[in-house]
Amino acid sequence: MGYFKQNPDSKGNFGAYGGSFIPPDLQIEMDKITDAYYSISKSHDFITELRSIRKHFQGRPTPVYYAKTLSEKYGGRIYLKREDLNHTGAHKLNHCMGEALLAKYLGKKKLIAETGAGQHGVALATAAAYFGLECEIHMGEVDIIKEHPNVVRMKILGANVVPVSFGLKTLKEAVDSAFGAYLQDPITSIYCIGSVVGPHPFPMMVRDFQAVVGVEAKEQFHSMTGEHPDNLVACVGGGSNAMGLFSAYIDDECDIYGVEPSGRSLTLGDHAATMTFGKPGTIHGFKCYLLQDEKGDPAPVYSIASGLDYPGVGPEHSMLKDLGRVNYVTADDRETLDAFFELSRSEGIIPALESAHAVAYAMKLAQEKPRQSILVNLSGRGDKDLDFVVDNFGKDYGIL
Ligand SMILES: *Cc1c(COP(=O)(O)O)cnc(C)c1O
Repeated sequence: MGYFKQNPDSKGNFGAYGGSFIPPDLQIEMDKITDAYYSISKSHDFITELRSIRKHFQGRPTPVYYAKTLSEKYGGRIYLKREDLNHTGAHKLNHCMGEALLAKYLGKKKLIAETGAGQHGVALATAAAYFGLECEIHMGEVDIIKEHPNVVRMKILGANVVPVSFGLKTLKEAVDSAFGAYLQDPITSIYCIGSVVGPHPFPMMVRDFQAVVGVEAKEQFHSMTGEHPDNLVACVGGGSNAMGLFSAYIDDECDIYGVEPSGRSLTLGDHAATMTFGKPGTIHGFKCYLLQDEKGDPAPVYSIASGLDYPGVGPEHSMLKDLGRVNYVTADDRETLDAFFELSRSEGIIPALESAHAVAYAMKLAQEKPRQSILVNLSGRGDKDLDFVVDNFGKDYGIL
């Protein structure tokens, strides 16, 4: 049996990880979503409509680009899968359009989700606008202030942004609030998660919707070079852009690298390198590697890239680590900023700070493996990060 037939199993387990640890009320609804996903998403109509959306609305396929200047400078042959050119500027829309299309087929009227930095909220609000669905995004009050431009974007797109004012008023409370809202109205609404995390079926469903990245890249890379890449590199927050690329190559021979943020120091609280420093635990209804405090609760985390700022990680990544199939490595803030400016100045591509972690590691790998090819998933563009980078680090890079 192939890898994808076995993973996850029928209960949503990826080896010792994943599953579903949620209140019984919510479990009933999750089971309905799972059943619907298995039947509807394999139907001819669903597949045809999703293909058409990807082509005409999202602008897919996104190109694979040979980064010539970067390769000549660092060695190796570095290629970029340009998810920064996907509509809305990142890979997240791939699973949001899939989730929203499923919602339409289920006759749902409203999409509910939480958002931290606002990226998932913006992608989902975009999908909701496309399908004419209501959209309710729960967001901590602290994040609402910090991520003002994304809050404005969601509102322009017609979403209702619900401020969450309890606890630390950030992502974790926003998840609790969104789950609560969904439970009150599970018939007309559907919960849409933002990465390959959460209870079954989300890690599988989001991976399957993101798999388009790997399927396209594999064919494009092969037609450009006549071969398959020797190495794959992607950043890992929850892990959806990474699973999107990796899924096409799991059974192949290439070396695979997932890059986590080692942040400003290796002290707990100063990074979000879950695979490197975490232990198995439970968060938001599923098992995974988890950065934990002494009590086993999710630890506070930090990353210069807010999209990587999560103490857990997808269950499939957790399994792939134990299997030794994927190497989980790190890039710190400084390496990431250097890569952000290097890619901007040598190739004319400003990457998202999340994606810059992958670029930073690819630059290192190219020096270690000068004769090999490296395919990087450039998960998003950096427009959202410009003010932050210039205000905080502009001086270091000759801007201010
Ligand atoms: C959200 C985000 C990520 C991290 O999410 P994954 O699920 O790990 O892919 C990475 N890159 C960009 C541009 C993002 O917006």
